[in-house]
Amino acid sequence: MSETWEALSHLFFPPVCYYCKAPLDSRGGRKLCPRCRELLKLVEPPYCLGCSKTNVILDEETLLCADCQLRSKRAPLSRIIAGAAYEDLVPHLISKFKYGRCRYLADPLTDIIMAHPEFSVLAPHIACLVPVPMHWTKRLLRGFNQSEDLAYELSRRTGIPVVKALKRVRYHSSQAGLKREARMRNLGGAFQFEDSYARRFQNLPKNRLTALIDDVCTTGTTAELCARALKRGGAKNIILLTVAKT
Ligand SMILES: [Zn+2]
Ligand SMILES: [Zn+2]
Repeated sequence: MSETWEALSHLFFPPVCYYCKAPLDSRGGRKLCPRCRELLKLVEPPYCLGCSKTNVILDEETLLCADCQLRSKRAPLSRIIAGAAYEDLVPHLISKFKYGRCRYLADPLTDIIMAHPEFSVLAPHIACLVPVPMHWTKRLLRGFNQSEDLAYELSRRTGIPVVKALKRVRYHSSQAGLKREARMRNLGGAFQFEDSYARRFQNLPKNRLTALIDDVCTTGTTAELCARALKRGGAKNIILLTVAKT
């Protein structure tokens, strides 16, 4: 945006906080105000190298939490990169984004993903962004897929392409409140790889990452099943980029 245009647009639409609508004195577009930003629990070291959680005991050698140590050998997903804890302002922002249809919140939520201490180190190695798919009936009801919005915003900022390589083929009742094993059963066979992308993934060098994108990671079941489907399609090194880990 040119400076004149920005000054003009601020005259008619003064910049306000994305969340609480407090006026912002800063230039450079709408953001969260300093007060709201302080309410985010952004991930800072020390954190688990597997799942980005901060309030856990880490193994001194591997720097993994107990859950990740158990999972590391069989997980198709190598890492979960979550920008914040699912606490304070984050759940509000996410529910306003998803259920309140405030799609402009993809912008500050993407800021949170990119605030992860390792994001800038990992980003140059990411070959593509794959949003966690939504069943078409659910998408029709909501009007958009929040993971796709986040993937496109991330793509706009980094230049990494979005590849919609997964399809959700079964519609399920809510996963909320279900334990990990029950979630696995409930979701079995829910995600399918789009075969038309097979060559793209099979030809990826081993050191190139495929990044799944989701708004929140709860038990990790959805992401794990998506990663399995991507593996079947030929993807090798898969990570999850998400706003928050519960
Ligand atoms: Zn605010
Ligand atoms: Zn962990």
